[in-house]
Amino acid sequence: MVMSIQAIRGMNDLLPQDTSVWQQIETVLRSVVGSYGYSEVRMPVLEKTALFCRAIGEVTDVVEKEMYTFEDRSGDMLSLRPEGTAGCVRACLEHNLIYNQEQRLWYMGPMFRHERPQKGRYRQFHQLGCEVFGLEGPDVDAELIIMTAQIWKTLGIEKEVTLQLNTLGSKEERASYKKELVAFLEKNFDSLDEDSKRRTHTNPLRVLDSKDPGVIELLKKAPSLSSHFGEKTLNHFNELKALLDAAGVAYEINDRLVRGLDYYNYTVFEWVTTALGSQGTVCGGGRYDGLVEELGGTPTPAVGFGLGLERLILLLTTLDKVQAKAIADVYVIGQGSDIQKHLSLTASYLRSKLDGVRVMMHCGGGNFKKQFKKADRVGARVAVVLGDEEIAKNQVTLKDMTDKDAQQMTVALEESIELIGRIINK
Ligand code: ATP
Ligand code: MG
Repeated sequence: MVMSIQAIRGMNDLLPQDTSVWQQIETVLRSVVGSYGYSEVRMPVLEKTALFCRAIGEVTDVVEKEMYTFEDRSGDMLSLRPEGTAGCVRACLEHNLIYNQEQRLWYMGPMFRHERPQKGRYRQFHQLGCEVFGLEGPDVDAELIIMTAQIWKTLGIEKEVTLQLNTLGSKEERASYKKELVAFLEKNFDSLDEDSKRRTHTNPLRVLDSKDPGVIELLKKAPSLSSHFGEKTLNHFNELKALLDAAGVAYEINDRLVRGLDYYNYTVFEWVTTALGSQGTVCGGGRYDGLVEELGGTPTPAVGFGLGLERLILLLTTLDKVQAKAIADVYVIGQGSDIQKHLSLTASYLRSKLDGVRVMMHCGGGNFKKQFKKADRVGARVAVVLGDEEIAKNQVTLKDMTDKDAQQMTVALEESIELIGRIINK
């Protein structure tokens, strides 16, 4: 026997039970973002490595440690996308989508990060991303956050997630804060972990995002960014809060929230849950007004978020908010002469008349007991039964599989359509 080859660690297969759940969630997500007038874009999963280095920042966890980067056969350095914003901006610039025009866009698909796999953290995971270009906010910042709140409401988990909100101010305000922060970090250098020591001089703001308990404790005494805010920042933030208040979206101000990537300014937010352990951030986003220019475009305000599908689905299944659907609604069985032909013709007819209903035909013969068992196993609500008599009279016998005591009914094939519909929608 040869050794079997297994999937790459942290990269999951989604089996029929899973895809049934995923499809239901994806449908909700598409429908909510569509209802806000967002349009879908699809970008490649591979981009030039330089795009991510420039967009996300060289001194970030994602670029330093997490990217799947390789040289292809032509000698180009490529990376599997660790997030969608950089590729989305690249695509918008390449196709001239955002010069002097607004765009509200969304995408959904796999992202790749070489992290230690654990519950809620994988090496291939999926995000719904939304990006808005050409609007300075805070009205559209509020729209994005309200839209995510609508997603939670539609999925019935609005009580399970809380919104953390912060503002990072302008580039200039952060620059003046940086000096003060570096002085503080230098003074307390010995209490920092290795990553934070290094970042003190390469990217000090990222130290605020440290997960090291000692550093978190130390940061309680650190100077705060907010003391550097001018009127524009404060107005932007206050208006955003007022719009969220008006929409009934509750939030907690968290002035330690800086987010992992480099490109944010003004609004940043995260939706977190306590139900998933330490992988509690289901969705995160913010404003990134400098990125379009950074990637070679004219300065364009922008704001967006990424929502982790694995964590969302883990949360929904943990809370029993979603179940895998049955495989089929109707299962066609029978016994008699030339039965396979009749099963096939009847199933085709039912499919043509029953829009959106999943009609499965029994294959492989066997007695009725075995065939009914199959109907049960695929979760069918109706079994359509054919025998020589039914076939001769162009009739079918219906069995309501949802009701043990229901009588079987033999009716004309055309009449069966309405009856089947009634049982399915019961
Ligand atoms: P974390 O702090 O948990 O590492 P992050 O700040 O790196 O998250 P973002 O880059 O903001 O995450 O990505 C947006 C969302 O994508 C996250 O809130 C999370 O739901 C999801 N996500 C990020 N990394 C992973 C991963 N490795 N596996 C599964 N989901 C992920
Ligand atoms: Mg991360």
